Amino acid sequence: MLFEQLGLSTDLLRAVDEEGYKQPTPIQEKAIPVILEGKDVMGAAQTGTGKTAGFTLPMLRRLEVYANTSMSPARHPVRALVLVPTRELAIQVFESIKSFSKHTNLRSTLVYGGVNIDSQTAAIRNGIEILVATPGRLLDHLQQKYLTLSKVEILILDEADRMLDMGFLPDIKRILNVLPEKRQNLMFSATFSNDIKKLANQLLNNPVLIEVAKQNSINDMITHVVYETKSNFKSELLVHLIKEKKLDQVLIFNRTKSGADRLKQFLDRQGVLSAVIHGDKNQLQRCQALDEFKQDIIKVLVATDVAARGLDIEELSCVINFELPNNPEDYIHRIGRTGRAGAKGFAISLVSPEEKKLLTGIEKLLNKKIKIEKIAQFDKTQEQKHKPRARNTQNDKSVSHNPVQKDNKSKTTDQQVEVIYFNGVHVNRNNVTKKRVVNDPLFTQPYNSDESALKSEKRSELDQKSRRHRERKYPIRPVPALFAPPVSK
Ligand code: AMP
Repeated sequence: MLFEQLGLSTDLLRAVDEEGYKQPTPIQEKAIPVILEGKDVMGAAQTGTGKTAGFTLPMLRRLEVYANTSMSPARHPVRALVLVPTRELAIQVFESIKSFSKHTNLRSTLVYGGVNIDSQTAAIRNGIEILVATPGRLLDHLQQKYLTLSKVEILILDEADRMLDMGFLPDIKRILNVLPEKRQNLMFSATFSNDIKKLANQLLNNPVLIEVAKQNSINDMITHVVYETKSNFKSELLVHLIKEKKLDQVLIFNRTKSGADRLKQFLDRQGVLSAVIHGDKNQLQRCQALDEFKQDIIKVLVATDVAARGLDIEELSCVINFELPNNPEDYIHRIGRTGRAGAKGFAISLVSPEEKKLLTGIEKLLNKKIKIEKIAQFDKTQEQKHKPRARNTQNDKSVSHNPVQKDNKSKTTDQQVEVIYFNGVHVNRNNVTKKRVVNDPLFTQPYNSDESALKSEKRSELDQKSRRHRERKYPIRPVPALFAPPVSK
């Protein structure tokens, strides 16, 4: 099928073409016509399926029919509201809306917490048709009287299961109260638990259920591996895996913010340069960490579940669960960051005896046993004979070998939040420049025991990458003749 057959306008088709999309993905093929008919939709789609365009394109099509060119803010009321659980996802969805709407007269903006509210207020006051928001900050704006949502025609909940769970539900209910009753509701997520499905059904009006893969199913391009180990060996095992398997670029999930911070410090001391992203970091730090990771400047990103959903990191080859998530569905969201758009991915989990129950829950949800790998010195059954390398704890009192144990006191976990992929469908992405070839870094590379050589090799590679990045961002431009130094004769 072609995009031209889906009922989109020429302005939208032009933007789609400029994005380099040649063919709609299955979720786009199914969702676009139904949304264009004005029906409510519950969309369950596997990680990386292209669902953002699946709801953005028909939403824009429906809105553009009555778009107007007036400068008056009053002529640009909010007509579509997109609610997402994290700031990063808000930025990603907003960017997608911006690029698809560039040839239309529709205006859009995004609001999320952790940054100054004033510029967001100014954008809203200017008048916008499409608002992408995280619930908390949206409520802040609603308390000031300049924002009204009484003209909303389309409500979209991305990562709907997360938006409707206990953490977000009170905010969502408050927001629903100020929306007109007659509206189109669209809910998308990779996973829908039965409870959430029931709740969603109460909010939706005769919804069409669109599923492109079996519910809660995962991408079969991802290889799952478990390493069983005592929790106090995990940090050492992690460093061993990163170095031995020469992991190219890896996203590591930790359950708590403080644990993520400690793990980052530990990795840095072991010569594995990393960045960290979690809910206590300010927006600038979060954007910078993610940007450096996406640009390949930093190879290792330690994150809480704030990074589990929605983030589209091109060609990320490996996700490591340093700790398993409490909720099995979050495993699917976490590993959905890898194996996207037809590439292979690896999902490694370090599992302590205390986490065995969580692993069983995940295997039940996936309906398959995950392969268990052993490395002698970290194997929990061998621990007495082979203790991991002793570390200099004198200079290192602040850091525990075991971020998990240290975190037992900490009750705060981050917002869990999305996913994506093209299950078995070849999607032409010719316009996307490949950053690097993913060639199964795991299980194929010999172990390089010369750590210092590895470190300096990695550093010089990093230096080059960061120089290239700077050069791309700040290219050297020719000096205007006026400012050029006089040529001596
Ligand atoms: P999403 O599931 O919306 O996060 O999309 C995952 C990735 O697929 C993003 O990088 C999109 O730009 C890309 N994508 C979405 N739809 C298509 C398409 N029809 N053709 C090529 N790439 C697409």
